[in-house]
Parts: sequence; C-alpha cells; structure tokens
Amino acid sequence: MLKVENLFSYYGRIEAIHGISFEVNDGEIVALIGSNGAGKTTILNSISGHITTKGSIRYNDLELTSMKPEKIARSGIIQVPEGRHVFPGLTVEQNLAIGTTAKTGLRLKRGNIGEDIERIYELFPRLKERSKQLAWSMSGGEQQMLVIGRALMGNPKLLLLDEPSMGLAPLVIDEVFEKIAGINQAGTTVLLVEQNATRALQVSNRTYIIEHGRITHSGFSSELVNDERVISAYIGKKQVSQD
Ligand code: ATP
Repeated sequence: MLKVENLFSYYGRIEAIHGISFEVNDGEIVALIGSNGAGKTTILNSISGHITTKGSIRYNDLELTSMKPEKIARSGIIQVPEGRHVFPGLTVEQNLAIGTTAKTGLRLKRGNIGEDIERIYELFPRLKERSKQLAWSMSGGEQQMLVIGRALMGNPKLLLLDEPSMGLAPLVIDEVFEKIAGINQAGTTVLLVEQNATRALQVSNRTYIIEHGRITHSGFSSELVNDERVISAYIGKKQVSQD
C-alpha cells in the first residue's frame, strides 16, 4: 500500500531523515519507534506532504512526494498529529462534523454526515455520551479518542497516528490501543509512531526502529519484543516482566 524508498527530509537546509526505506502493507499496523528527536514525526509529516523531501513515497499507484497535503488527504491518508488538537470551544459532535467539511478536504465519500457520526459513536460510545460537551472539558483520553474519531470521519484507508499514548495514564492507554486494534480490524491500515515501545510492539504487526533519522532495526513485532537489543534500548527488563 505504501512504499517509502530512500527518503530524505529537510527543515530548511537541515537534513532530518537520511535516506530511509520501509513499507506498509494493506491491512497492517506498522509501528515506528525510537527516542525523542529520532525523526518519527518527520516521517509522518513527509508522507502527509507537510515537509520538503527527496526520494520516493508510493501510495498504491500514486507518487506522493510532489502532491499537496490536501490531495494526499483526499487520496485516503489521514494524519492524527501529536498533541490532541481538538477545537476546544466546539462540542464533540461539532468537532466530528469538521472532519467532513469540504474545506479540510477530508470528506472522501458522499452521504449523510449523521450516519458517519453514528459510526464513530459505535466505535467510541463515550463520545456519544458526551456529544454536546465542549471539547476543552474532556479528559486527555477522551480528547485522544475525539481526534482519532475526527480523522475517521474522512474514511481513511491509511491512518497516520502520532504518539497517541502521550501524557495518558496506563489504563487510558490500554483503552486507546484497544480502539486502534479495533479500527484496524475494521479495515483501516495504520502507521503508528510511538515512544512507548512496549505498547507499540504489542499492537503492531511489524516495527521499524528509528535512530537519528535512520532505520536501525526492523522486523515482526512479535519477534522484536523478545530481541535483547530492543529490550535493553527501548523497553527495559522491568517493563517486560510486568507485561
Ligand atoms: P519526538 O517524539 O520528540 O516528537 P521524533 O522522533 O518525532 O521525536 P522529530 O520531531 O521528527 O522526532 O524530529 C527529528 C529531528 O528534526 C530532530 O533533530 C528535530 O530537532 C528536528 N526538527 C523537528 N522539527 C523541526 C523544525 N520545525 N525545524 C527544524 N528542525 C526540526
């Protein structure tokens, strides 16, 4: 579905990604893990068209590197940025409806917005309970569900998720990751960026480890979770024994 080849990404003259290649197959959850500043967000921003790049990003039959972000979104790739950017003064329902407006370019199919909102409520019943609540007053976990729900209003084929666990309590993280697994089972391919390596390895099919703008290691998540180098660098013995 997505094939990234020899990708270089730039902030002005600074090169942040130094020639990486990876792929995401239809139906997978693929994780990118690595420490702060490794380049994970930059990779997502490169795919969604927000950063200057060199190299190739093929998405099905499309070459994305020269495409505008709106067109990339309309082709079925929707990004949930780090940091839970809800519209704080709007209700849950209004936040969801915004995911469908022509201006954002994210409505990929015609039809009844109400039906789509109901579909999101089925996945996130808590959002339904709070449909008239202003977004700023929602908890961190609820706001994370809301931004994921808003992205799903655009019917993505490939969902780019940036650090969904950030700043959330462990039980809430469990819930968010269950939802991510559910979204994937319902047919959406997911590329997940996470600093929480344990959770990322648990939920994903395959994982790439990013260090200083390069891929240093990759494989099936079920194997990497037992790999000594990965454990010592990204997980730690204590966490493994707890899981
Ligand atoms: P984090 O988890 O902290 O977000 P990350 O792995 O997502 O880390 P990136 O945010 O992609 O890392 O950053 C990769 C590199 O690019 C870092 O060296 C960072 O300092 C640099 N960088 C990121 N954003 C900018 C920017 N707007 N201008 C210049 N350099 C940037």
